Amino acid sequence: MIGKKFIKNYTIGELEEYFRSSGEKSFRARQLMNWLYEKNVASFREMTNFSLELRRRLDLEFSVEALEFADRLVSEIDGTEKYLFTTRDGEHIESVLIKSEGEDEGRLTVCLSSQAGCAMGCSFCETAKIGFIRNLDAAEMVDQLCQVRRFSGQRNNNVVFMGMGEPFMNYDNVMRAAEIMNYSFGFHISVRKITVSTCGIIAGIERFIEEKRPYNLAISLNDTDPEKRARIMPVERGNPFGEIALLLNEKFPASHNRLTVVYVMRDDNISTEDAKRLKKMFRYNRIKLNLIPLNEGSHGYNAPTEQDIARFLRDLEIMNVPKTVRKSFGRDISGACGQLSGKKYTGIARARNFGDYK
Ligand code: SAH
Repeated sequence: MIGKKFIKNYTIGELEEYFRSSGEKSFRARQLMNWLYEKNVASFREMTNFSLELRRRLDLEFSVEALEFADRLVSEIDGTEKYLFTTRDGEHIESVLIKSEGEDEGRLTVCLSSQAGCAMGCSFCETAKIGFIRNLDAAEMVDQLCQVRRFSGQRNNNVVFMGMGEPFMNYDNVMRAAEIMNYSFGFHISVRKITVSTCGIIAGIERFIEEKRPYNLAISLNDTDPEKRARIMPVERGNPFGEIALLLNEKFPASHNRLTVVYVMRDDNISTEDAKRLKKMFRYNRIKLNLIPLNEGSHGYNAPTEQDIARFLRDLEIMNVPKTVRKSFGRDISGACGQLSGKKYTGIARARNFGDYK
């Protein structure tokens, strides 16, 4: 990408090295991280404990902002906020700020995008329709958090990589962003409050376990029958969920953070047979099943009725499958799960992927 480098791409270690090699004290790195994340300033100019000369030098080489704010929508139903950002090369990505209620009251979650578009092609997801555009830099993920905090005036305490894109197809940058968000003198978001969500990329899951990444892991299952899953989630073909389940049973360490399996409920995947297959899969009882009702869009799939959901929950209850049901947030602003499309793409995506689809 042309232009200045993004300062938010660098970890504390790299910044220390940078300052040392340019004749400054390495503690400047900690001060810089503090300005960028704890104080969340928008320019080097504001870093008043740096000399003018240093501020000028940093400004010549780096930019503080990686994204340009484009739009903000606030849900009238539940206060969910959806943000649209433009990248330097003119792509559009979205982030969502979600305020939990009930037993999770006080939890403030930011849902981040990891890619512009997505290559995974899940047939019920709006982002998939855009197709893949490119991976986001770590700075473009970290800056989503900076800007959502700045514009909302709220300090989130929870981060999920569940926005646009497949985090494990952009593994290095996502891990780098998570590390920067966790840094103690910056955002200081606990590793227990960072969740990476994948549609099930085996190579990524293996690497995540091998490297002992301390974050929570969520895997989107969405169908219990492999054939049927492959039809709605093409990723199943090269990455069978059966294999993932074995891998997790064997290797996901007991000391590790939370492991969740996400199941988006449609009207055709919540039969008693599905409940039975889930029961079998969830013999491994450390896994928590997270049920989300499908958000309807232009994909043609139907959400189940309240009664059907209640029946499915009863089935699972009887079979003793540990589960939580996630409420859908921000439906009126298309900020709910699987609805992020970077509104500017709607027309383009249809033209590119669906011919004359109206
Ligand atoms: N690629 C990653 C993260 C982005 S998708 C993943 O697959 O996990 C985040 C979540 O939104 C996934 O669990 C996905 O199954 C869910 N999702 C996608 N479209 C949806 C829709 N229309 N309604 C409800 N959830 C949806």
